[in-house]
Amino acid sequence: MHVYDTLFIGGKFVPPASTETVDIISSSTEEVIGRIPATTTDDIDAAVAAARSAFDDPTGWSTWEPARRAEVLDRLADEIEARVEELTPLVAQQNGMPITLAHQLESALPAGIYRYYAELARTTEFEEVRPGVLGGRAVVRHLPVGVVGMVIPWNYPNLICATKMGPALAAGCTVVMKQSIETSLDSYIMAEAIQAAGVPDGVINFVPGGGATGAHLVAHSDIDKVSFTGSTAVGQEIGTKCGELMRPVTLELGGKSAGIVLDDADLAASVENLFVATLVNNGQTCVLSSRVLAPRSRYDEVVETLAGLFSSVKVGDALDPETQVGPVVSKRQLDRIRGYIAKGIEEGGRVVVGGADRPEGLDKGWFVQPTLFADVEPDSTIAQEEIFGPVVLVMPYDDIDDAVRIANGTKYGLAATIWTSDEEKGRELSRRIEAGTVGINHFMTEPVAPFGGMKASGLGRELGPEGLASCQHLQTVYLPPAS
Ligand code: NAD
Repeated sequence: MHVYDTLFIGGKFVPPASTETVDIISSSTEEVIGRIPATTTDDIDAAVAAARSAFDDPTGWSTWEPARRAEVLDRLADEIEARVEELTPLVAQQNGMPITLAHQLESALPAGIYRYYAELARTTEFEEVRPGVLGGRAVVRHLPVGVVGMVIPWNYPNLICATKMGPALAAGCTVVMKQSIETSLDSYIMAEAIQAAGVPDGVINFVPGGGATGAHLVAHSDIDKVSFTGSTAVGQEIGTKCGELMRPVTLELGGKSAGIVLDDADLAASVENLFVATLVNNGQTCVLSSRVLAPRSRYDEVVETLAGLFSSVKVGDALDPETQVGPVVSKRQLDRIRGYIAKGIEEGGRVVVGGADRPEGLDKGWFVQPTLFADVEPDSTIAQEEIFGPVVLVMPYDDIDDAVRIANGTKYGLAATIWTSDEEKGRELSRRIEAGTVGINHFMTEPVAPFGGMKASGLGRELGPEGLASCQHLQTVYLPPAS
């Protein structure tokens, strides 16, 4: 049992404003595995005050040479890696992520992102002098945007944390991070890593909590920028609030991505990558190709290949190293996903593998069978709405124009995959797809390149140098001609 009675604010573990607590449940066993304080708006105020004061310190973090901040980021990466055995089982227990995946995506990749931004801080120009057209000069500065309020979901708590904090810290910003309650226990291990890395007090503050505390943070008068990852519905609310306040905002939202199988795809060679692209993290991944589009001539073969894959994956306790698909995060998510499966059947879809019943032999835990639908219409509910569970559908297309039309035919534009033996053909087709990221024959988010969505999948970009730029303000200083 992991019981925490403090919050990480101002570089210290401090008592919360309220004595109320929240239980944290294992999604594999439904047992209570931890307890944390129920964060209130008073805690958010304290966290914002600490971040504000750290940012405004005239000799503090935001004024340091970028290379000095980079040293801290490198140490943070080391401290995360040193805690992999504490961190990753907590993530796996809370949100159901298979432990082997948690090692890779909740420890190694976050550490890699902090190191990437450390290197970028060392090698990027934060100030340059440009000769003017009439003989004057312009100094162009990339200043830290200020105190960033961050709100994140439960599906990849440390990866999303790194995606947001890496560039913000490299830029010289300070942070108030509101994690989801569902995955809050691991944030205490991260806070210990932050202390051990020597991050100055107040630069990073953690206030795991619910929607009301998130809304308070987003609208707080001492926040300079908001960075949100979560559902489109909440993103729209936050975007509206930030518009009202004229506050910069990055929104990473939902998706309903297409996986387009071309007529020359080598399906047999793609099975492992198809698993990652359609089911990774039990379907709780925003970028998944949850709508697979197959040429009519190969439709049955694609359905059969995916059916073989879905019926062979090992479903089980997230802590078991053999598990490929764990439970979903909560009872609420389980009910939601089952509701979509029922809706898919009601609207005429054919369940090829899986269904709404519990997987055999798993009497406890929020498990959903990996479920494959065929014969689904592109405008049906399960082909249009994000399910966020291990539910995938296959739809036929007539020709490439038809595939593009179906792929682009939802409100979302987060990601896509293309499966082909001809990489050049895949790259050409990717231009026609309304998606912020496209994977050819695989999908793996790459920290060096921008990530984000088009249409209802979001605004702005994270990762890459573009992610650093999104944490900076530009200031120009005009100088007279040099004498
Ligand atoms: P959610 O929108 O319900 O919650 C996300 C976060 O927002 C949580 O921390 C929650 O407490 C907080 N929140 C809820 N209401 C709020 C409000 N009114 N104001 C401020 N904060 C509020 O999403 P979720 O169910 O936690 O996560 C799943 C969603 O996240 C899916 O839609 C998924 O596609 C999306 N997601 C997107 C990306 C991406 O990079 N595009 C990555 C991961 C997840």
